[in-house]
Amino acid sequence: MRTPFIVGNWKMNLTMKQVDDFLDTIKGQLPDPNNVECAIAASSIYLDKLTEYCKNDVHLKAAAQNCFYKNSGAYTGEVSPMAIADMGVSYVMLGHSERRKYFHESNQMINKKVKAVLSNGMVPIICCDETMAKRKTYDEMNWVVNPVIEALKGVSAEDAKKIVIGYEPSWAIGTGKSASGKEIEEACFLIRETIQDLYGKEVSDLVRIVYGGSVNAKNVKEIMSQPDVDGVLPGTSSLKPEDFIKITN
Ligand code: PGA
Repeated sequence: MRTPFIVGNWKMNLTMKQVDDFLDTIKGQLPDPNNVECAIAASSIYLDKLTEYCKNDVHLKAAAQNCFYKNSGAYTGEVSPMAIADMGVSYVMLGHSERRKYFHESNQMINKKVKAVLSNGMVPIICCDETMAKRKTYDEMNWVVNPVIEALKGVSAEDAKKIVIGYEPSWAIGTGKSASGKEIEEACFLIRETIQDLYGKEVSDLVRIVYGGSVNAKNVKEIMSQPDVDGVLPGTSSLKPEDFIKITN
C-alpha cells in the first residue's frame, strides 16, 4: 500500500548544461508513477528548471535539499518554503547529515522546518543520521529514534501520514559501502515502531521510510526487498541519468 519512493540527491553538483542533459536523457525512461514515485532533490538554483520539467512529465517530482522555517523576512541567503512551494516543489529534504554536520542544524531547527514545509503544502523527507559509534553502543534513543521524535514534535497525525523518513547512516554516505540489508531493516523497523508509538498503526503503516548511503543499481534490489524499506535516496548514483534510470526501474 506504500508506493515505493526513489529520490536522487544531487547535493551541490552539476552545471545548468548537465541538468538539461540529465532531464533530456530521463524523458520517457522512468517507471510508471503508480508503481514507483521518482524525485530529484536539486540545489535551489535548479529548482525552477526542475519544476518546469515536472509540469510536463508526471514521472518526476521536484524536491528541494533544504529550506528555511520562515516564509519571508530579513534572512539573507536563505530559501523560503513559501517561494519553493509556489514554484511547484513537492518535497523538501530536511536534516541531511551534511546539513547537521557542516551547518550545525539541530533537531529543534529541523522540527521548525518540518512544520514550515507542511504548512506550505509540501512533504518533508526527514533524514536521520546514524554514526557507527551510536550503532555500536546500541543506545536506541540517540541512535535513530531520537531525531525522529524531535523532528515530529507538534506535528499532527494527519500530517504525519504524509511524511517520508530517510534513514541515512553517515558511515555509508559517499563511501561506496552501503549498509547491509539486515542493518537497514533493523533501523527502518525501529523508526516505524517509533512512529507507531507516537501516532498508532494506521499512521505508521502509511509513512514511507527510505534508505540512503551508497545506493547503486546493483544493491538497490536487496535494499528494497526489506519489509520496512519503501525506497532509496541515492546521492552519487543519481548524478548520471543512466544510473538513475537503472535504479528507478
Ligand atoms: P551517496 O549519498 O549515495 O553518495 O552515498 C547519499 C546521500 O547522502 O543522500
